[in-house]
Amino acid sequence: MGKIGIIGGSGLNHMEGIKGVKKISLTTPFGKPSDEFISGKLEGKEVVFLPRHGVGHRISPSEINYRANIYGMKKLGIERIISVTACGSLKEEIKPLDFVILDQFVDRTNCAREMTFFHKGIVAHVVFAHPICKGLSESLYNAGLALGLKMHKGGTYINMEGPAFSTLAESKLYRSWDMDIIGMTNMSEAKLAREAEICYATLACVTDYDCWWPQHGTVSIGLVIENLNKNIENAKKIISKVIKNLPAERECDCKDALKYAIITDKKLIPAKIKKDLGIIIGKYINQNSNHKDGL
Ligand SMILES: [Zn+2]
Repeated sequence: MGKIGIIGGSGLNHMEGIKGVKKISLTTPFGKPSDEFISGKLEGKEVVFLPRHGVGHRISPSEINYRANIYGMKKLGIERIISVTACGSLKEEIKPLDFVILDQFVDRTNCAREMTFFHKGIVAHVVFAHPICKGLSESLYNAGLALGLKMHKGGTYINMEGPAFSTLAESKLYRSWDMDIIGMTNMSEAKLAREAEICYATLACVTDYDCWWPQHGTVSIGLVIENLNKNIENAKKIISKVIKNLPAERECDCKDALKYAIITDKKLIPAKIKKDLGIIIGKYINQNSNHKDGL
């Protein structure tokens, strides 16, 4: 069974219950990941944990080295990533302390962050119509339900840039677009995970209503943090339950995402890219076949 990655967001710097902990410090062709990877066993399965913002929450959403984080996970043999993230709600019925197992993204970043492994000498277009792994997200949803938690199946996450939160006009605009929740990090990870053929699913923890909510100004930061802490405790229970029950084999298309995606003539891919991306593209570009390169 391939290892399971857990990326912890705001409030989740540490995952209790991991046995035989090893701390792994990696450098990647894309620079340094957010922190050391914590490797060990949880519920008898091999897991690797990474705090998205670094221990102590030092790295802002725009500055996270998403490529290094996902590349590091790939290098460590991760086949599936469970992402835990705090988010704001854009809908009345999605209440603070609920969980959303989102299934779609809309990108509102300013594109300053790198969201692909493929550029400067290699072109690949992965299919991203359904950016979340269906099997893994269903497992998250069912685990939450079994624990008696309020779960929402499906939902669109609008990925804003930050670090400031939305203006009231923006928040109202996103509501008019029928967006469900808002955050600053997950779309970048999902794109890179797909390129790396890693299953990716998000457990989004609702901490508050975004600023569209008429009473938003009366909510204290203390209450938001209290909600965040409660969410994180429940998220840890969901993760343990999911990991315990996850089947050994993946039965989704995530593992073949690059099969038809690499367009560049293999002979023209620079040697450095072949080396740097070897763990991701090696099985496609090193094969000796007689069929024509590309599509
Ligand atoms: Zn998958």
